[in-house]
This record gives sequence, C-alpha cells and structure tokens, in this order.
Amino acid sequence: MLPSFFDSLVALITRTSTDLPPDVRQAMGMALAGEEPATRAGQALTIIAQNIDQAESCDGPICQDTGMPTFEVKVPVGANQIWMKQQIKDAVAEATKRGKLRPNSVDSITGENSGNNLGPGTPIIHFEQWEKDEIEVKLILKGGGCENTNAQYALPADLDHLGRADRSLDGVRKCILHAVWKAQGKGCAPGAVGVCVGGDRTSGYLHAKEQLFRTLDDRNPDPRLGEIEDAVMDAANQLTVGPMGFGGKTSLIGCKIGALNRLPASFFVSVAYDCWAFRRLGVTLDVRSGAISSWLYRDGDTTSQPMLTPEQMAAGLPRTGREIRLQAPISDEQIRALKVGDVVLVSGTMYTGRDAVHHHLMKHEPPVDLRGGVLYHCGPVVVKEDDGGWKVTAAGPTTSIREEPYQADIIKRYGVRIVIGKGGMGAKTLAGLQESGAVYLNAVGGAAQFYARCINKVTGVSLLEFGTPEAMWHLEVTDFPAIVTMDAHGHSLHKDVEAASATKLASARG
Ligand code: SF4
Repeated sequence: MLPSFFDSLVALITRTSTDLPPDVRQAMGMALAGEEPATRAGQALTIIAQNIDQAESCDGPICQDTGMPTFEVKVPVGANQIWMKQQIKDAVAEATKRGKLRPNSVDSITGENSGNNLGPGTPIIHFEQWEKDEIEVKLILKGGGCENTNAQYALPADLDHLGRADRSLDGVRKCILHAVWKAQGKGCAPGAVGVCVGGDRTSGYLHAKEQLFRTLDDRNPDPRLGEIEDAVMDAANQLTVGPMGFGGKTSLIGCKIGALNRLPASFFVSVAYDCWAFRRLGVTLDVRSGAISSWLYRDGDTTSQPMLTPEQMAAGLPRTGREIRLQAPISDEQIRALKVGDVVLVSGTMYTGRDAVHHHLMKHEPPVDLRGGVLYHCGPVVVKEDDGGWKVTAAGPTTSIREEPYQADIIKRYGVRIVIGKGGMGAKTLAGLQESGAVYLNAVGGAAQFYARCINKVTGVSLLEFGTPEAMWHLEVTDFPAIVTMDAHGHSLHKDVEAASATKLASARG
C-alpha cells in the first residue's frame, strides 16, 4: 500500500518546518528592503532574514514553535483514509524524533506533554475527496503566539478607535484592521491574515485558516473581497506597528479573505493571524506509490533563493556602535542605566522559563539562584547528544504576556534583573520592573536558529519533568542581542507603539 507515502510525509513536514516558501520569502525581502538597516525594525528584519537562511542551510526549524500541524488532504474516491491518517500521525512522530517538530501536544487537563506531537486533536487532518487520480497534501505549521492573536467579531460591533463596524464589507475591513492593531508584535509581526466573512463560529475560524493556504501574491477570485484585501493591506501598513511591534513600515504581508453563507441572525468575521514564519507547503503524490510527484508553492528541485548575500550573512547583526554589553549576573546600577530603545548584547548564564516554570515559582523556591539573573521566555528545541549532553537546535522567544500574572512577583522574590521574551508585558510587570530594578528585553520572535547560535552550551536543566519546552534550561550565551522595550523607569515601547498606532487606526475609520 503506497510504500513511499510515509517518507513523502516526513519530507513534507521537514521542508515545511525548515524552508519558507518563495512567496513569503519575497514578501519578507520587500519588508527588509523598506527599512533602514540600523533602525530597530531594520535590525529585527535582518535577524529574521539571517534566521531564514540559517534554518534552510542546516535543515533546522525556522522557529522553535513548530505549531499545530494542520494537514489538508485530497484523495481519489475509494482511497483508504484510515490508513493514511495513521501514516500521517507516524510521520509527525518521526519528524518530532528527528527534531524537525518540537513536542507541542499537551494534555489539557494534566499539562503532560505526549512527547511526539500526537494526542486527541493533534495533528489536525482534514480529508476531502476529488475526481483526480492523485493525492494532494498541504500542510501549515502555525505557532501558539500567532494563534493566540486570532480574533472573531460578531457584527455589528463597536471597535476601539474605529467606531461602529456594520454588517457590510466596510465593517469587515474595520474588523481586520482592528485585529492587526490588537496583535501588535505579539504574533511576531509582520504577519498575514486569513479571514472568513460569515459561517458560524466554528466554520468561520476553519475557513479563515484555510485562506492561509493561498499564496500571498494571488488575486481573490471575488473582486469585492479583493478590493477589501487591498484596502486592508494599504491601511495596515500605515499603522506603524512594524516588525515585532517595534514600530516600522511593514505590519502585514498578506490579507486573504473568503466568505461562507451565514444564518440571518449572525454575521461573524473570523481572523486567523499567521506570523512572518509563515510555514506552508504542499505536495502531490503518486496514487500508486505515494512518492512525491511535485511540490506545491515551490519548485521542489531547486534550493530556495537566499534572503541575504554571503557578505551580509557574514556581517551578522548590523551594529550601530551603540550596543550595550551586559554580563550576567547584572547589578542594579547597570539595569537603571538602561532605557527603552537600547540594544543590548547579553552574555553569561540565562535560564529559560515559560508557563509551567512561572506557575511553579509562585509556590516553590527556584532550583537555581536567580539573583542578578536573566530569565528567558523560551521553549527551545533540545536534542540529547551521544555523550549524554544536550544541544539546543532552536531557541527563539515565546510570547511573554502569558506570564503577566506572575512576572512582577517572581522578579521581586528572586531578584531577577532581566526578562527576555517577545511581544511585551503589561502594566503590572512594568510597575514591578520599576520597583525591583529590572528590565524587559524584546528578542526577535521566531528567530530560533539565530538565537540558537548565540548559545555556547547547555550547562544544565531543571524541572525537566515539565517536558522539554517547559523545563528550565541553563544556557551559556554570548552576545545575545535584544532591545530594551520596558525599562526600570516606567517606560514601555509597547505602550508607545500601541498609542501611536491607535492614532493611525483612527484615521482608517472611513
Ligand atoms: S514566529 Fe513567533 S508567532 Fe510564529 S510560531 Fe514562532 S514564536 Fe510563534
């Protein structure tokens, strides 16, 4: 039965996780070309471009959050879908074992990680029959940070800064702009949105996600929706949310809208936000062997066009000469000298900690001394080496706002001086930074390969019982770059960018 099906699926998953499709590369290339290299936005986009090329050249995950694997499969009438489903699951488990996918499937009641990306609801597999004599498999890997920024609106609605959104295409336009503005940098902007007008709450979200299977440069077959897509792109890119929410020219690289019929009483607009690490590929398979006949979205035989020249890759992060070097542990004086907008290069030991660690630290003493230390919101991809040691193969920041209820307490109790993550944090943390003398640094979300290369070695691990992404990893780093976006003086770049973009949003009221 289709002897090559399993291998074809492993190849699809691997390439999707490690090599961005040409349309996304092109859009990110244009974003990079539009920014001055020495600005925050320019530096972030350069790190992203380096990361994309590094991932492709080492066959490593573009982002450490390899997301929820979602497969759309089209099969000829009579194909054995039960067998195929099992093969797809086996391929997902194999890709996880090879470090191409991070173990991401967690029991929602116990919090236990299945370790192989399998479990109730994971992966997501949708089958459809068609009349063709071939199999088509499309895959999207969409991470948690951008998934958390999805939004669903029930019209009519009153929207911040935009006023009333009616049951009309203009109301749809306002909802999409509102969702992009709300996302700020939390979904690793610049992102792309798939949108569904209508349906019910469930089918709306599904159809919105399906729009992300369209290429960024296609034209909507419905000119009315095409017009809204263009209008959203124009207005969203004047919001100045910018890469990672640092401010800048490109906030959105794609807007794709579909529509479903609805009940007369309902009018939903569902928005699926995907990040710049827009991992989407597909294959057609021979119906007798399961071997790959062709790749979708790309030419399968050629390597990807690099984002940067070899000289640009060798040059690394564009430096301004104003970068500040910090060596952990860090003093109160060093922290209070930092201000929003400073670019810092951190060296020494940092400890990873995300949801499970923060929850744990609220009730238990930390397993290491965190005084003067650096806490990194990160769930890395880590592999065990032959000598029993650990190697980090992908290590970008995770969305920090989830730790908002805990962060200020943890900083105060244990003397943490630097928190690194992405997307910024809220008022409670900002006050905590000021009170305790600490700063929040925003690293570039999704730049998993770039940051993995700043890690010299893994010196230990605590709380491994929480699973690989949730454990506290002890990392020795050199020149880990990040931007001060919340300082110890009560200033927050996130607040400033949100306020400035709110003014721009208001001018798109129409
Ligand atoms: S790039 Fe950002 S939002 Fe996207 S999967 Fe990675 S961490 Fe999540």
